[in-house]
Order: sequence, then C-alpha cells, then structure tokens
Amino acid sequence: PPEKYELLRRRIYSNTKEVWYYIGSTLRSLANEFDDLKPKVSDMKTMVDEHYRSLLRDVAKLADVDGYSQWRWKEFGSLSRLVEKRLRHTQNPPDCSKARKLLCNFFNNCCGYGCRVHHFVKCLIVAYATERTMIIDNPKNWEFTSRGFENIFIPLSDTCTSKDGDTVSLWPGNETTQVINYILPTPEFIAKHLHPPYIPVVLPEDLAGRINVLHGDPAVWWIGQFFKYIFRPQPSTTIAFNQFAKRVHFQKPIVGLHVRRTDKLISEASLHRLEEYMYHVEEYYKIKELNGEYDTKRIYLATDEPTLFDEARLKYPEYDIIGDPEISKSAGSLQKRELDDSIMDIITDVYFLSHHCDYLVCTFSSNVCRLSYEIMNSLQPDASAKFTSLDDTFYFHGQVHRLNVALISHKSEGPEEMDLEVGDEIEVAGNHWDGYSKGTNLRTKKTLLYPTFKVTTKIEVLPFASYPNITL
Ligand code: GDP
Repeated sequence: PPEKYELLRRRIYSNTKEVWYYIGSTLRSLANEFDDLKPKVSDMKTMVDEHYRSLLRDVAKLADVDGYSQWRWKEFGSLSRLVEKRLRHTQNPPDCSKARKLLCNFFNNCCGYGCRVHHFVKCLIVAYATERTMIIDNPKNWEFTSRGFENIFIPLSDTCTSKDGDTVSLWPGNETTQVINYILPTPEFIAKHLHPPYIPVVLPEDLAGRINVLHGDPAVWWIGQFFKYIFRPQPSTTIAFNQFAKRVHFQKPIVGLHVRRTDKLISEASLHRLEEYMYHVEEYYKIKELNGEYDTKRIYLATDEPTLFDEARLKYPEYDIIGDPEISKSAGSLQKRELDDSIMDIITDVYFLSHHCDYLVCTFSSNVCRLSYEIMNSLQPDASAKFTSLDDTFYFHGQVHRLNVALISHKSEGPEEMDLEVGDEIEVAGNHWDGYSKGTNLRTKKTLLYPTFKVTTKIEVLPFASYPNITL
C-alpha cells in the first residue's frame, strides 16, 4: 500500500491551503497598517490567488493520475463492508434473551437534531467497541416526530429490540453484565466522569492503520460509517428524497452551503455574512474553471433562516440556487419544531448536503454542518478536504480531546506563539485559518498559537472488540 505516498500527497494539499491562508492574512494586515501599500498588496493578492488555485488544482489532480484510484475505491469498499458486517453481527444476535446489550436513548436533554444524533452515534460506537447489541430505549418515543425512528430509518436490529436481561448495570458494568445502561446523562454518570474510552476521535487499533492510509481525517471516516448504518432510509424516506430532488430541480455539480443562524447566534457561534460563505464558493468554482469543469455555478442552500434564500438570489443572480425556504421555516423555534413532526425537513437538508453535494461550505460549530461532513465522508474514499469551515476545525461532539503532534520544531516569534519540539503533543483548540492554530502544548502546558503546517493529526488508538470471526 502506498502509505508514505498517500500521507505526503495529502500533506502537500493541506499545506498548500495553509500557506495561502498565511499569505492572505499577512497581506491583509500589511494593507491595514500601511495605506500606501494597499494597491501593491492588492496586486500581489490577485497573483498569489492565481498561483494558489493552479497549485491546489494540480495537487488534487495527482490522485486522478497516480494510478491508485482503483486501489482507493477497493480499499474503501472493503473497509466499509467490514465495519458494516461487524455491526450487522452485533446488532442481530441469534438469541436476544442471551445477548449482551448496551441500552441507549434519544437523549432528551434539549438539544437539536444534529446534537442528539451525535449522542446516538456515540452509543453505537461504544456498542461496537464492546461487542454489544445497541438497544434503543424507546424507539417510538423519538420526540422529533410522532412517527418514530423506525418509520423513517430501518431499525437497528432485525432480531433484538428488547431491553430485558438477567443483570443490569450502569456503564461501565463488567464483561458479564448482560444489559449495560448507557442512557445519558444520568447523574451517576456525570458524577463519576465515566466516559467510555472508545468515544471518537479514538480509533480501533485493528483498523486505524488502514483508515489512516485511506483517509485524510481517519476519525471522520470512522464516525461516518456508523451514521451510514443508523441512517439507512426506509423506502418511503427514499421516495420523499427523490420527490424533493425533482421538486427543487436538484442538479450537479453543486456546492452545499449550510448557514446556521437563529438560536445558535445567542451564545454558541458568531454571525457570518452570506458574503463570507460565498467567497469560498467562488474560490471552489474558480478552481473548477481552470479545468473547464462546469457551466453553471450552483449551490444547495440549507439553513434555519429562510430569508437567506431571497438575499442569496438578489446578491448572486448568476448562481442557480437550489433548496427550499419552506423546509427551513420550522427551524426557528426549537420546541415547536420538535413537536410538529417536521423532522423530514432537517433530514432532507442533511441528506442533500452529504449525499449529493460536491463540496461543503459551513461552520463546524454547527452539529448539522459536521454531521453532513461526516456522512459525506462515509460515502467515498476520502472527502476530508471537501469543506471550508468558517469557524471551528473538525471535532466530535463529546470528544475527550483532539491532538496534534509536531513534525517540525518552532521558535516562537512573539508572546502569543508557542515553542515546538518535534514530537510535542498539542491539544487542539482551533484552527484560525490564517496559517496558525491554537492549542495547549502538553509538554509546556501553555495555550498559545503555532503554525499549522508544522504539525499533523495524532492518531489515537485503543483495542476495540476485534471480531476475529467476522471477516470479508
Ligand atoms: P447546532 O445547534 O447547529 O449545533 O445543531 P443542532 O442539530 O443541535 O440544532 C440545530 C437545529 O436547527 C436542528 O435541530 C434543525 O432543526 C435546525 N436547523 C439547523 N440548520 C438547519 C437546516 O439547514 N435546515 C433545517 N431544515 N433545519 C436546520
């Protein structure tokens, strides 16, 4: 397997972006500081942008011409089928009355759809890791809809839905406990901080090496596989997706735009103007233009703020804007949304963003945006570079931490920067998309900035159940 080559190819790609972020931000500061430099800086920026697009396009093309494309799809298929087969195995025990179970619920802790399905996927991952059947506590009582989970998605099990068992205990229980209650958040659970160690971004030891060769952000691919299993649509759901596609004249190529507004802006995220999103959409199409790869610029707009459709159509008349303001209308008020059975609205938006968009521009502070990205990454060998987040870098909802490891040493150039020694581990707080990331160096315990290109993601692994009898 072309391990070293794959890692190198992806590193060149992401560092091409990093150097562009760095130069762009430095030029902006120069222009702000020195008025007389403005015209020169503007010329430079135009030329730097052209260099960047050409370089990025060429690096991206390497994957088409290097002869490994078939290998990537084969490896992707083989890894995905293996995970799915193991999930089918644990989810369908021959005798439910004897099966070891992990009891999960829909987490009635008053957060939105994206937030709750992340709790849900966490449960399925823990079930996989401990080789237990995940049982949904009360699948009919999915408060998002009176129809119940299993009317929209295929049940997680064909053979085992009963939560009964001879012995029951709260997580972590032990090997022989038949039913482990992982209903979150119980006060006991919070008090003891008994987080299962298997929660992403940790990866299973037996597969991590392969996933790391295949994918630019292995944890994202891994999480995606579990969402793929959870969100297997019922035939009626597929029909609804197809009808929607017809109604909105869905077409490719298309960039998915997710704009989260309303209640999110109260305390969890900052407002980003439509222009900030569209800047990155424009960049996407400018690179495509170099290849002559499109004739119409198109976006799929998903949002909880329906007025954005009019704004986008007014400001970007040259774009074909696909989507439906009607399905974002319900998103404004959380309580109402969850009572009135409008679950298909958000499910439809996430489905089109993840399954049918070629690229995503959104804010990773939103669970909906990360969910779409995670699912997108479960459907192809490596879509890890097919996004722009206007705020956070990727994280898993409920992760313990995410680590970078230094590949190149660094001498700080000011009080806001950290020193790096090769091998230093840094707990990531965020990428500032200006060439620098922020984090806590675990060696020096200091929380400061560091140049993003000098680090890489640390892959953390643990022994999960290894399913020696479930192979392809
Ligand atoms: P977060 O708050 O953005 O992190 O994500 P949550 O899923 O926790 O909550 C967001 C809620 O807003 C969801 O439950 C949706 O109902 C609604 N929402 C957010 N974005 C969209 C969108 O693009 N389309 C629709 N239909 N609803 C959305």
